[in-house]
Amino acid sequence: WSKDTIAVVTGGNKGIGFEIVRQLASQGITTILTARDESRGLQALSALKEDGLDVLFHQLDVTNSKSIGKLATWIKAEFGGLDILVNNAGVAWSSLPDKVLAAKEVLDTNYYGVKNLTHALLPLFRPSAAGSRVINVSSMAGQLAAVGNDKWKQQLNDEENLNEAVIESFIKVYLKDRAEGTDTVLLMPSQELLETYGNYIASKAACNAHTRVMARDLANRKEGEKIFVNCMCPGVTNTGMSHNRGHSVEEGADTAVWLVLLPASECVTGKFFLKRTDRGFL
Ligand code: NDP
Repeated sequence: WSKDTIAVVTGGNKGIGFEIVRQLASQGITTILTARDESRGLQALSALKEDGLDVLFHQLDVTNSKSIGKLATWIKAEFGGLDILVNNAGVAWSSLPDKVLAAKEVLDTNYYGVKNLTHALLPLFRPSAAGSRVINVSSMAGQLAAVGNDKWKQQLNDEENLNEAVIESFIKVYLKDRAEGTDTVLLMPSQELLETYGNYIASKAACNAHTRVMARDLANRKEGEKIFVNCMCPGVTNTGMSHNRGHSVEEGADTAVWLVLLPASECVTGKFFLKRTDRGFL
């Protein structure tokens, strides 16, 4: 990778995303820090500039299709395309009092945000010997062990037949559960655990499944036009999301940055990584 390499990181204004931007820019990669809030994004940008890093900024709310479109148009006009996309933006806890709207917010960000942005930027990935990279910052919380309903677990693990329609039926049933106060999908041990973690688990399980769909659909591209798609868990990392528990953001960002920097000959696609290790989806 070089200065000509273009990387986009979502939710780059703080936490793990900010650290991923810092590490990629430190490697000399032209890195675009995106944030939904322009002033928070520009503040993060100036902190990195003060450290001597040459980083660019563009507004991006991953739940807003206009904002996604504007970013794609800008990337095409400025650089002709991109090489690396790190889908890091995420929410775990919604502040919305309405349970269904709260669930929708988490799924819109952690699943539909990843899906819609990836599709919008896909035509802009440039041919390169190193192979383009999509890295979805996901979570162990989305491992299929957390999906108690065997039918859904099996469907989300059936890589051959998995597609966006299957993933979105899973989401639809989960949201119906939330609306009706039932739990037919995750089968959590208690209502309290469902209320606390259900949205996040469902959204990250969907994000993991989407990683597999994209990787499979892009697997047959010819040499020089490869796109490797993987997801990873940063581990419990000291950010606002974890209520400031866990290891450093440097450690949290490590596996995502490692996936970007791996030589093409060592790249795999459609896998779930924790601590630089393929952990599988179960
Ligand atoms: P933070 O809450 O610190 O940061 C989340 C980032 O996502 C913020 O920049 C936030 O922007 C942004 N974001 C949220 N919604 C949107 C949106 N609609 N459009 C664009 N950006 C948005 O969390 P972390 O840094 O901890 O989390 C980063 C990723 O790591 C997430 O995907 C999370 O699920 C995952 N993860 C984190 C773990 C942890 O222990 N911290 C463990 C496992 C996974 P804003 O500042 O405007 O809110």
